[in-house]
Amino acid sequence: MKALRRPLIAGNWKLNKTVKEAVELVTLLKRLLADCQDVDVVVCPPFTALGEVSELLIESEIRLGAQDLYWEEKGAFTGEVSGSLLKDAGASFVIVGHSERRQFFHETHETVHKKTKAALKSGLVPIVCVGETLKEREADKTFEVLEAQIKGALTGLGREEVEGLAVAYEPVWAIGTGKVATPAQAEEAHVFIRTQILREFGEDVAAALRLLYGGSVKPDNTAELMREPDIDGALVGGASLEAQSFSAIVKNAAGAALK
Ligand code: PEP
Repeated sequence: MKALRRPLIAGNWKLNKTVKEAVELVTLLKRLLADCQDVDVVVCPPFTALGEVSELLIESEIRLGAQDLYWEEKGAFTGEVSGSLLKDAGASFVIVGHSERRQFFHETHETVHKKTKAALKSGLVPIVCVGETLKEREADKTFEVLEAQIKGALTGLGREEVEGLAVAYEPVWAIGTGKVATPAQAEEAHVFIRTQILREFGEDVAAALRLLYGGSVKPDNTAELMREPDIDGALVGGASLEAQSFSAIVKNAAGAALK
């Protein structure tokens, strides 16, 4: 029997889906996941579809997330969206520090920290992403990178704040590549992250924190990943764009978590 952390499966749609396509996908997901009560399920559409998807999810257990936020509340920040605006649009989760944002939009430890803090202040659950590149893994720097990212994002936050968030371990070499980390590789990184959290924030926080794995999660590799004691869920990119595959991931995660 795994630890009593409730599994969390989040779908990151990235820059995909018109409003119409988003509505179609969520309508199908609601039907396919109507009986699935043992897992927290989150969908993260692009900003433009948040409003319509939120309406559709009013009577559903599926929760709404955003893919990013800005740390300022309001003002002259053209193009940005704050945590309170996301809340207002119906979101309860937000992805922070995804590797694509670090890589293409120059996010730093400092911006990831500010965004994490701002999300918590707005009452959103941040899903804070960390993970090493292939070059870093091959240079034996995985733990060094993870330590710096975890410290960068979380140092200075209170225990109760850290307890309320989720961390996603997403090795960059596994994102969108079809090259999934082995359960042992993922578990090793998760144990390292949980130990970091334990050192900085204590045992209770470390035991409560949900650690998701992300990187080419598919229906057929979900169960073996989820059976690892420190893997509490998944952040899913490509396979979340299709109702059949995303709902199969959720169901396989639910089945594995009960074992
Ligand atoms: C992601 O974007 O967070 C991700 C894990 O993508 P994929 O599942 O497509 O590898």
